[in-house]
Amino acid sequence: MTNEASVLLFFIDGLGIGKRGPQNPLDGLNASPLAVFQDEEPEVFLDGIVVPTDPCLGIEGRPQSASGQTTILTGVNAPAAIGYHKQGFPNKALLEIIQQHSIFKQLQSAGVGPITFANAYTSRFFAERPRWVSATTAAVEAAGMNFRTLEDLRNDNAIFMDYSNRILIERGETVEERTEKDAATVLAKLIKVNRFTLYEYFITDKVGHAQDMPLARQVLSSLALFIRELLCHIDLRRTTVILTSDHGNIEDLSSRNHTLHAVPTIVWGAQRERVAARIKNLADITPAIVALLTKTLTVNELSTN
Ligand SMILES: [Zn+2]
Repeated sequence: MTNEASVLLFFIDGLGIGKRGPQNPLDGLNASPLAVFQDEEPEVFLDGIVVPTDPCLGIEGRPQSASGQTTILTGVNAPAAIGYHKQGFPNKALLEIIQQHSIFKQLQSAGVGPITFANAYTSRFFAERPRWVSATTAAVEAAGMNFRTLEDLRNDNAIFMDYSNRILIERGETVEERTEKDAATVLAKLIKVNRFTLYEYFITDKVGHAQDMPLARQVLSSLALFIRELLCHIDLRRTTVILTSDHGNIEDLSSRNHTLHAVPTIVWGAQRERVAARIKNLADITPAIVALLTKTLTVNELSTN
């Protein structure tokens, strides 16, 4: 549809860079590109660049989801703005930041489109919209965008946060189970027709809190396979892929808390060096994406860089 530069932001909740050891489900697991460890030079699939990224943002305490995700999706240091790391769902102060600075809104104002959130929402969300919603949901709403539905998912135009669809099937929804490859094909299709695509995955954080080693290893090896399949289905001359997380958790199952570890931001694509050089902490992600997409480079210009 367009040969202008595009970005996929692949958000994984609760994935930090841990030490090797029996507490780390990634140790000894076939989980490239997610198997990144402290004090080791990472070898990343398809020349991705790993940028250990600070989720603490100068504020004491363990980094949390609401403030971390707000920071990723706005470029505003949310913990500094409210004075602490806020867990769970964004409160009023965080919602105001999102309302003003949502990445979707910034891209719209800059005339970058089409842009999309790839995740599907169930009919329950539309029927009884929850009082408190995730930072991602708020960021999409701030820009007045529509959410993808299970009907979109059935038409291969959306993917569920559990990209295998197994959770939906267990809940009684009539959808087909997807392999990692099936899900990658669908997400790659959405990326192809959009200039900015966000995908959100958060089972990693839930499994980290549950301290469930067998499940953690299963989830991480499948997620890693999904990402490898996805990267093989994307035109990396055109699309910059940025994978990141809001805080550590699953990389250390000896504790049920989030960790203080850096998170792995991994950048793939022709523009990877330029983008990676801009990223030090979670507040740098949105500005890096906006800068890249507002330059309106074509594929030809991209490949000569
Ligand atoms: Zn958590």
